[in-house]
Amino acid sequence: MNPTDVTFDFTPAVRAKVLTRDLNRCARCGRYQPEGGHLHHRKLRSQGGLGVIENAILLCPLDHHWVHSHVAASRAIGLIVPGWADPEVTPVLTWRGLLLLDVDGDFQSVQVPSVPSEW
Ligand SMILES: [Zn+2]
Repeated sequence: MNPTDVTFDFTPAVRAKVLTRDLNRCARCGRYQPEGGHLHHRKLRSQGGLGVIENAILLCPLDHHWVHSHVAASRAIGLIVPGWADPEVTPVLTWRGLLLLDVDGDFQSVQVPSVPSEW
């Protein structure tokens, strides 16, 4: 990517891809967002988070407020990514399960290893 293409804000093109990827549903509660909801920076702008698709997730207004007022809980589930981490390799827990968001606007489900029965 050309460094001059990097912006902190989400462009209309990124926004459109996120809404498609996230099925116009809030990542946390799964409710449909007919008005488009809020695009959340998983790595916060104040931490150097960019307006790129793997750093974006759709939230309803209530859950966007919840995320920013529950930072530790949001970090634990990947809705907030620390400044030192890469959103592309940090899974996020959504209503669809644990996902890795990629730079192309796709995602992969992450399988959580089960604890061996002898434990
Ligand atoms: Zn929600």
